[in-house]
Amino acid sequence: MDKRTLRHEMLRILDKDRVLSDDLDVMYYSYDSSFLTKIEKLYPDVVVLPRSTEEVQKIMRFAYEHGIPVTPRGAGTGETGGSVALTGGIVLDLSTWDEIVEVDVANMQVIVRPGVIHADLNDYLARYNLFFPPDPGSSKMCTIGGMVANNASGLRAVKYGCTEQYVLGLEVVLPDGEVITTGGMKSKAIKNVSGLNLTKLMVGSEGVLGVITKIRLRCWPKPKARGIVMAVFPALDDAPATVLDVYQAGILPSGIEILDQSAIRAVNQFKPEIALPDAEAILLFEVDGNPASVEWEGTTIAEICRRRATQVEWATDPQRMASLWEGRSVTATAAARVRPDGSRVFAGEDISVPLSRVAETLRAIRGLGQKYGIPVVNYGHIGDGNVHTAPVIDPENQAEVEKVKQLVHDIHLLAIELEGSTTGEHGVGAVRRGYAELEHGQAVGIMRAIKNTLDPKGIMNPGKLF
Ligand SMILES: Cc1cc2nc3c(=O)[nH]c(=O)nc-3n(C[C@H](O)[C@H](O)[C@H](O)COP(=O)(O)OP(=O)(O)OC[C@H]3O[C@@H](n4cnc5c(N)ncnc54)[C@H](O)[C@@H]3O)c2cc1C
Repeated sequence: MDKRTLRHEMLRILDKDRVLSDDLDVMYYSYDSSFLTKIEKLYPDVVVLPRSTEEVQKIMRFAYEHGIPVTPRGAGTGETGGSVALTGGIVLDLSTWDEIVEVDVANMQVIVRPGVIHADLNDYLARYNLFFPPDPGSSKMCTIGGMVANNASGLRAVKYGCTEQYVLGLEVVLPDGEVITTGGMKSKAIKNVSGLNLTKLMVGSEGVLGVITKIRLRCWPKPKARGIVMAVFPALDDAPATVLDVYQAGILPSGIEILDQSAIRAVNQFKPEIALPDAEAILLFEVDGNPASVEWEGTTIAEICRRRATQVEWATDPQRMASLWEGRSVTATAAARVRPDGSRVFAGEDISVPLSRVAETLRAIRGLGQKYGIPVVNYGHIGDGNVHTAPVIDPENQAEVEKVKQLVHDIHLLAIELEGSTTGEHGVGAVRRGYAELEHGQAVGIMRAIKNTLDPKGIMNPGKLF
């Protein structure tokens, strides 16, 4: 269908300010935060901004009937090209549908529409002493719909897990326009083991199975206290060994972050006043809970760290905690500045490996950086083996672009070889689908069969996931 007719048809469903097709308007939708969309622009034909289930249903029915690709989109903060239309068609921007429908304090849950921003939801829940624990670095931008579709998490996943652990039920508009409710039509229960778990199927499905239009989330009581331990290690292997000792002592911190030497140097170069000690690794442990347990856990972790670390500090004072954490909070920005003409590449940025293989992984990535002559800064959530790598190149230099593609490919293969995954948080999207068979083997056939059953015409977010 040509662009003009498609726009005309969408205007039969939505007001004109919620149908975009001008070049300038659709250009905004041609990228997300991925390296892929930095080097390649992929434009939709039309962008629509629905704000009700009925509107989404009408759009999907029309698209299904005419075989038009539909790409759901939240805030477009994804790192994988997931919310970008690879083959034109309709982009369904859900970011303006940002209603908090109900906070059910008695049952510790909240019902939202997909466009609610993560940080806004937690600000709202704070008045009820509740919170939704997954904590992506993009909290102030990303939508709950995008988080559910990507099964997002963050540095506190080590204790609180990923989004999937909090999704109690969903309303989903399927590719043919049918609407289903998962997790029980009327259920407000927290435990529910009846039927096949379609909620889990939809969480992390990256928009290839349907459009998530309503989300029922479990909330947790907000912890009353917090503390930070910072420890500096002369040898890289000391870091995972110390993390293991902390677990063995019966402590589950709410965050365990690592900066390796490349990240320490990047931070010091970016902001010399932070003055991190030059070392092979720095660990940051965050503990939260009630004040007495936080004090015990923090002092015990500090004691464990002293077995190997050259410098250890434990703090509960908010100002001191902020300054201990400052190095970690500027790492992503600092990484991009390690060379003056450089730009950070968001690709191969998110592998996850077993804790026992983190040091080996970091050493191997350092070696790959040397092999390709590309600076790579490493940091991440060591508590659950999620390593963030930041290669830095001049994106205008085609030879460097080609080299970094090879480097990223090697990082993905390394993750699979070391019994890990090509992605611990950010998902597959358009950029990691080539590894599906290598990572999941025959199970990919079953994934495809599910996709074909729900979306026989292949209109939902084509070219993503597998
Ligand atoms: C600075 C920065 C830091 C980040 N830190 C983290 C982090 O710590 N942890 C983490 O997990 N991720 C992180 N991310 C990646 C990203 O923010 C998350 O994956 C986030 O959940 C994406 O939300 P979004 O609203 O931007 O979704 P989008 O990028 O718009 O979409 C992501 C995917 O979800 C699909 N989708 C979106 N909405 C719907 C819907 N309603 N129904 C069906 N499918 C839908 C899209 O089709 C796409 O496949 C970070 C990104 C940035 C830029």
